[in-house]
Amino acid sequence: MSAELLDGKKIAGEIRADVAADVASFVADGGAKPCLAAVLVGEDPASQVYVRNKNRACEKAGIEGRTHRLDASTSQGELIDLVGQLNDDATVNGILVQLPLPKDGNGGAGFDEREVLDTVDPLKDVDAFSPVNVGLLMQGRPRFLPCTPHGIVQLLHRTGHSVAGKNVVVVGRSDIVGKPMAMMLAQKDGSCGRDVANATVTLAHSRTADLGAVCRTADCLIAAVGIPQMIKADMIKPGAIVVDVGINRVGSKLVGDVDFEAAKEVAGAITPVPGGVGPLTIAMLLHNTLMAAKLQR
Ligand code: NDP
Repeated sequence: MSAELLDGKKIAGEIRADVAADVASFVADGGAKPCLAAVLVGEDPASQVYVRNKNRACEKAGIEGRTHRLDASTSQGELIDLVGQLNDDATVNGILVQLPLPKDGNGGAGFDEREVLDTVDPLKDVDAFSPVNVGLLMQGRPRFLPCTPHGIVQLLHRTGHSVAGKNVVVVGRSDIVGKPMAMMLAQKDGSCGRDVANATVTLAHSRTADLGAVCRTADCLIAAVGIPQMIKADMIKPGAIVVDVGINRVGSKLVGDVDFEAAKEVAGAITPVPGGVGPLTIAMLLHNTLMAAKLQR
C-alpha cells in the first residue's frame, strides 16, 4: 500500500480522551454532569445500534446519555412536545433527534423532519442542524460545528494535512455532510479548525458534469455520496488526500464511497471504512455536548 492510512479510530480515541478529561475538570469545577438526550423513533436497526454506541461513548466520557424511545406510530405533535420538554429540561444539555425518522410514522403520513429539527433549542443543538447554527457557521462564527465535517477537520489537522491554498472537491451536498464541509474548508480564517481552512472548494453532486475530471483537480477529495465504491482510482489525482465519508452495507460488509483497494495505490493519504470518519463523528458529538453544557452554565 502506498498511501498513508488516516486512522480515524485512533484520532477519535484521542479526542474522546481529551473530552473525558475536560468533562472531569468541568464537573470538578462545580458543573453538573453533562447530559445528551437522544430521541429515537421506531425500530430502525442501524439507528438502534448508532444510539447504543453513542450512549456507550457518552458513558466513557463521563457524560450522561439518555434515550427517549418512541413508537413509530407517534404523532408529529407528540414528537414536537417531547423535544419541547427536553428544551425546557435544565438537566439536558444536548438534544439529538436520530434520523431518519420512520417514513410510515405520524399515523402513516410521515414526519415533517424539518419542523422537528427546528424545534430543538439552538443552544442544545449538538448536531448543528438549526438555521441559527447553520447561519453562524456560514458567517464564520460557529457555535456548534456539525459532527461529521468537524471530525474530518480534526482528522486533517491532527495528521498534519493543511488544505490552505489547495483544491478540495467535496462530492455530495447534503445539509449534514457535504454543504457544511465545503463551507468549513472555505472559511477565511481558522474559525472552523485552526489551519484547516482557506481551501479552494468545489462542491460536486449528482448533476455535476464530468465528475471524474472535477475529482482529478482535487488535492483533497472528500466523498459523501452513499454509493458503494463509486470513486474509482482513475478519478483521483496522484498523491491526493482522500476522505471517505460513505458507509454502505454490501452484503455483510461495510464499504465506503471510494474503491479503497485501488485508490490507496494512487492517493497520498486515505481513510478506511470502517475506522475512518465514522468514529470521529461520535467523538465530535461528545465534544459538542460538553460545549453545550459550558454554554448553558
Ligand atoms: P445524502 O443522500 O443526503 O446526499 C448524497 C449526496 O450525494 C447528494 O448531494 C447527491 O446529489 C450526491 N450524489 C448522489 N449520486 C451522485 C452521483 N452519481 N455523483 C455525484 N454525486 C452524487 O447523503 P449523506 O450526505 O447523508 O451521506 C452520504 C454518505 O455518508 C452515506 O453513505 C452515509 O451513510 C454516510 N454518512 C456517514 C457519516 C459518518 O459518520 N461517517 C455521517 C453521515 C453520513 P444531489 O444533491 O444532486 O441529489
